[in-house]
Amino acid sequence: MSGWLCITGLGPGDLAQRTPEVTAALAAATDLVGYGPYLARVAGHPDARRHPSDNREELDRARHALTMAEAGQRVAVVSSGDAGVFAMASAIFEAIEHGPSAWRSLDIRVLPGISAMFAVAARIGAPLGHDFCAISLSDNLKSWDIVTTRLAAVATAGLVIALYNPQSRARPWQLGAAFELLRQLLPATTPVIFATAASRPEEQIRLTTLAEADPAWADMRTLVMIGTAATRIIARPDAAPFVYTPRGMSAA
Ligand code: SAH
Repeated sequence: MSGWLCITGLGPGDLAQRTPEVTAALAAATDLVGYGPYLARVAGHPDARRHPSDNREELDRARHALTMAEAGQRVAVVSSGDAGVFAMASAIFEAIEHGPSAWRSLDIRVLPGISAMFAVAARIGAPLGHDFCAISLSDNLKSWDIVTTRLAAVATAGLVIALYNPQSRARPWQLGAAFELLRQLLPATTPVIFATAASRPEEQIRLTTLAEADPAWADMRTLVMIGTAATRIIARPDAAPFVYTPRGMSAA
């Protein structure tokens, strides 16, 4: 039997936002690997073996998945959203780069998913309609200095910012510090979106301004999106407002 390894993005939550390609790979896998709560979102084949792990063991998990594929198993590694955005695909390639040469000959595919920033943008309008970037606020894998340098650079450059990993119990102050920094660089009226558990039953979306943004509205399941001076709000009488960033900007 020839094994394979699919690195799959499960999407933001709602099954309707998971690609058929990912669903098919999950059903065909003999082994499912990933962070426990993500694996819980996968039906998979009834006989599939499940290998849940802690969120911080990415490289070990990657090597384990590659070892199983090398042994002929059909392995699906799962990530939420897209597998390549702050997720397992990079860990797999890091393991391949530094691992046994046989791993380079394995059948390895990355199957994309809808990343949280796209799910959130779609729920509120088109905030990512012009130039934007994604930044993880976690300082587990990089220093806080790098986070603030990048935030200042992209805010000054006029990019919409999708902030992943804004807050956790182990990282309680970083989001407040990020808002403090951005308030010095952007207008107080800049739109800020807090979207928690987008596309899931417990979804919560809150639109506010940079002046009013309260870090307490974010947890591990929240994506925070910060607009630019160009980002617009369309009020509606009977529904939540739309937020969009125009496609063009006048040469100032
Ligand atoms: N690979 C994932 C991101 C993993 S990092 C993706 O492409 O979406 C985990 C962070 O993603 C969370 O802290 C949160 O900021 C964001 N996130 C994941 N799913 C989300 C959802 N349904 N709603 C809002 N944010 C989400």
